[in-house]
Amino acid sequence: MNGASDGIRGIGMTSARTRDRLVQRLRAHGIRSQAVLNQIRNVPRHLFVDEALASRAYEDTALPIGHGQTISQPYVVARMTEALLDAFTGEKVLEIGTGCGYQTAILAPLVKRVYSVERIPELLKRARQRLRDLDIYNVQFRPGDGWDGWHKYAPYDGIIVAAAAPEMPARLLEQLAPGGRLIIPVGPAGRQELTLVTRRDDHFERCSLDPVSFVPLVPGK
Ligand code: SAH
Repeated sequence: MNGASDGIRGIGMTSARTRDRLVQRLRAHGIRSQAVLNQIRNVPRHLFVDEALASRAYEDTALPIGHGQTISQPYVVARMTEALLDAFTGEKVLEIGTGCGYQTAILAPLVKRVYSVERIPELLKRARQRLRDLDIYNVQFRPGDGWDGWHKYAPYDGIIVAAAAPEMPARLLEQLAPGGRLIIPVGPAGRQELTLVTRRDDHFERCSLDPVSFVPLVPGK
């Protein structure tokens, strides 16, 4: 973003300085990965929300995207991406809950391939178009139920879920490769924990990261 385009918008809220402030805030809140922070700086979050909300796009807050859904808070996107990619050596990541595609756009340039599943086709269609507009081509999208994962391309080295599950989805655990990492908010509304599951040879290791607040992972189609 440069001064000229800010002038056209007449608000200056999408400028480099505004984005730098967001990056500084995330760093102050404990995000360490420079690769993730660079992505937060580079991905134009204002293109993922309605124009009426564009001036708030670089606030560290969730915003409505229609259909009763939200674009996740940048801190949470950064935290989840950092946790997923910490010591990550794999290639394939499954994302559940594409929504507007912001998390997808942050993640995709940092891995070889992303497979993204969303149950609301209208959101999926717009997300697909946005990523194309941003020249991101290593993502495959599918409308469907995230509880089923995406069997065709399993196993995945990483799985990232952007909606809260009351209990751990068994099919996602099955589709995790040995050594693979699953990041998922688990628990009922008001008591969700961002959870990291690592698949070991003969068991799953589970650890809680942060209390979080996500829209629910809707059961079934
Ligand atoms: N990843 C988005 C946040 C999306 S909000 C971002 O970057 O901001 C969560 C999304 O999960 C919503 O779009 C919702 O429709 C979707 N979702 C909820 N339950 C689902 C399910 N069972 N299967 C697939 N997607 C689901």
